[in-house]
Amino acid sequence: MTIRLIRRRSRAILLAGGLFLVTALGAGAALQSHRHLKHKQDRIVTLHRKVADAQRLLLLVAESQAVIRHWMISGRMEDRDASLRAGDALATQGRELAARLAGPLAARGLPPVGEMLEHVLRVRDQAHAMIESGALDATRQAVVQGGGLSAVAQLREVLGSFRSNIEEELGALDAELREGQAAGLLLVGASSLLMLAMLLGAVGQLARRRAAAERARAAMDARGREVAALFRMGELLQSSHAPEDIRRVVSHTAAELLPDLSGAFYIFNNSRDRLDMLGLWGARGLPPDLPEHFAPDECWALKRGRPHGPATGENLRCDHLGEAETCLLCVPMQARGEVYGVLSFFHPERRTMSTTEIELAQALADGVSLALANLALREQLRSQALRDELTGLHNRRFLDETLPRLVAHAERRSASLAVLMLDLDHFKQVNDRYGHAAGDAVLREVGRLLQARLRRMDLACRYGGEELIVLMPDCNAAEALVRARELCDQVRGLHGGASGALPQVTVSIGVAAWPEHGEQVGKVIEAADAALYAAKRAGRDRALPAEALADPLPLPG
Ligand code: GH3
Ligand code: MG
Ligand code: MG
Repeated sequence: MTIRLIRRRSRAILLAGGLFLVTALGAGAALQSHRHLKHKQDRIVTLHRKVADAQRLLLLVAESQAVIRHWMISGRMEDRDASLRAGDALATQGRELAARLAGPLAARGLPPVGEMLEHVLRVRDQAHAMIESGALDATRQAVVQGGGLSAVAQLREVLGSFRSNIEEELGALDAELREGQAAGLLLVGASSLLMLAMLLGAVGQLARRRAAAERARAAMDARGREVAALFRMGELLQSSHAPEDIRRVVSHTAAELLPDLSGAFYIFNNSRDRLDMLGLWGARGLPPDLPEHFAPDECWALKRGRPHGPATGENLRCDHLGEAETCLLCVPMQARGEVYGVLSFFHPERRTMSTTEIELAQALADGVSLALANLALREQLRSQALRDELTGLHNRRFLDETLPRLVAHAERRSASLAVLMLDLDHFKQVNDRYGHAAGDAVLREVGRLLQARLRRMDLACRYGGEELIVLMPDCNAAEALVRARELCDQVRGLHGGASGALPQVTVSIGVAAWPEHGEQVGKVIEAADAALYAAKRAGRDRALPAEALADPLPLPG
């Protein structure tokens, strides 16, 4: 985590440093190129000025020559004045220009033009004076002989060379300037492009990082919601007191955690030889003919003790699914070393589940297994508290709790409730003769017999010692007497058959019923007790009804 942070920071620092360097280089190069260009431009301006000076000087010479020639031909006064002005201009401005050009001419190895100009001025002044005197031919001759014309030609030649020299230099400078500009532009363009690329890279990286953070946050949010849903499921399951409660919690949580999938929920029956469907959730992909029950060896997940199905890459289909191909996964529900059932997940098209979905399915199964284990434990504790350990029958406490409810139920439905009081005959002797363990075995077998032979609605309890009581709802005394006699026969029969090793025992039974033998259930029990003792007195191994106290029934068989 820290290493990744440090890496990210150093990348950001590198990027910022790179950007700064490129910007600085670009700016430096642009500045340098600008300075260079500026210098060249200044130089070009200076050269142009010099050319202009040379040009101006030539113009002044040409002007003064032209006007003096004109005066000489016309002889007019105004031409004379113009010639004087031109001469003055050449003398003042021409000298100034010749002085300014002296340095540049010398720098290019050309002679100064000051002397030439002075010579031209001198010849011009002579010519002026001679024209005034009217000696025109002599003037022409004097100009030619005095070298005025050749001085002008010399001046023109020097200044012409000067100009072409400067123009050459200007041409070279211009080319350099253009190259410099192109190079500068290229440099600035390249650095701008580089900067843009780096900026784009940085922006892209930022966007990618933000998207990754967004994805991570969304995943974390989803995980948080899943954990919260599982937590809620745990809480709800803790308060579930029956498989039906668990079914509802599971359906609700599964729909929340795996909304895409539907499912089936099977749990083991009490004898653990069959799985019963507790419920279904969702609708998409659920096969219409899912069985209500199936045997444990019809499910690979149960046989292997781990999730099984196409979602975990196993294509061997479980038998309990029949022809259905929409099952993605069966997850066994196991906790504290015990398997409680299986959750099956379905989807109409998909053949895979994401890792998260498989983990969620497993978490769902784990939560439910724990709840089922707690339920089984609670049931076991309850049964231990309410059942007698030796006989497996209900205990006295259960009888005391249940009796008022049974009477109230019978009262509401105007039905009767029969009570059988049983006491094993001469049990003391059994113990004495065969030992206490044999006596225990007899009690255990009698308990098993009662559980097997009575109706589901009947309640058999150990009343104390070797005395037992049976409550038979919806049964009157006459019907109960028939059942009691059958029980006498069956207890006697324990000696033979499968339980041949047991000592011979018989039982005496007193039969009474509510409301025939008392308004209060206590009275009915007393009546049954009294009938039991009557049966003992009458010779044991028999059932007697309470009203038959004075008229004992004949011995059975
Ligand atoms: P009767 O036919 O008159 O009922 O004779 P009985 O010997 O059964 O007489 P009684 O009811 O007085 O004796 C009950 C005997 O049952 C005494 C006791 O040793 C025995 N007994 C009570 N509870 C148990 C038990 O949990 N295991 C065994 N092995 N014997 C028990
Ligand atoms: Mg007895
Ligand atoms: Mg007894």
